[in-house]
Amino acid sequence: MIKAVIFDLDGTLLDRKRSLVRFVQMQHDTHLNGHADIPGEDYIKHFLHYDDNGYVSKEKVYARLKDRYQLDNRTAEALYADYQTSFHDHCVPLEGLHTLMSYLESSTLRTGLITNGLTTFQNRTIEALGLQEFFDCVFISEEEGIKKPAEQIFQRCLDRLGVKATEAIYVGDHPDNDIRGAAHVGLKTIWVENDVYENPDWADEQIRSLAEIPDRIQVLNRRFIHENQ
Ligand SMILES: [Mg+2]
Repeated sequence: MIKAVIFDLDGTLLDRKRSLVRFVQMQHDTHLNGHADIPGEDYIKHFLHYDDNGYVSKEKVYARLKDRYQLDNRTAEALYADYQTSFHDHCVPLEGLHTLMSYLESSTLRTGLITNGLTTFQNRTIEALGLQEFFDCVFISEEEGIKKPAEQIFQRCLDRLGVKATEAIYVGDHPDNDIRGAAHVGLKTIWVENDVYENPDWADEQIRSLAEIPDRIQVLNRRFIHENQ
């Protein structure tokens, strides 16, 4: 039997791109509206480019924006501080989150979350999505001192949930950090389709909306039973 489902956060439960665009648009309108030479569209485009899907620290992103737009120190520092305090007011979930959560709440499945990122910031994202009480366990790379795709972070989560790798499913959007990493440990995998990464053909299942997950869990459960007969 499948006994647990473990999730990634950014790009999986959080619609990171939509959240970021909402935030950056607001940041431009609030802080840079007086700069006629910095059009909103240009600011959003360059922010997303420098951010590289979240793989570049925001300190570096803002340093590059400062250079590009010749911002003074005070403005650049205010923008960075604004990111840390206001990003979470603009978080939106991926489609189907509430359907998925109701399903998991009414099931006997155990749930976990493994995310690469900074502890305080990721915890605030979890809160912004209303998920702070939801998971049986949460592993954030900064406080674990280890990050995906390292085997140990998946193993720690499995141990805490008290399930074997083959009894668990991992859901994520990154082909290597999530799908390959989890599959290597022996979990079954569901890839969240997106326009950032190429389709990893090594995922067991793939979805467009989180509302499709209950159905995929049934499919993977039947496969588990078949494999273990
Ligand atoms: Mg992700």
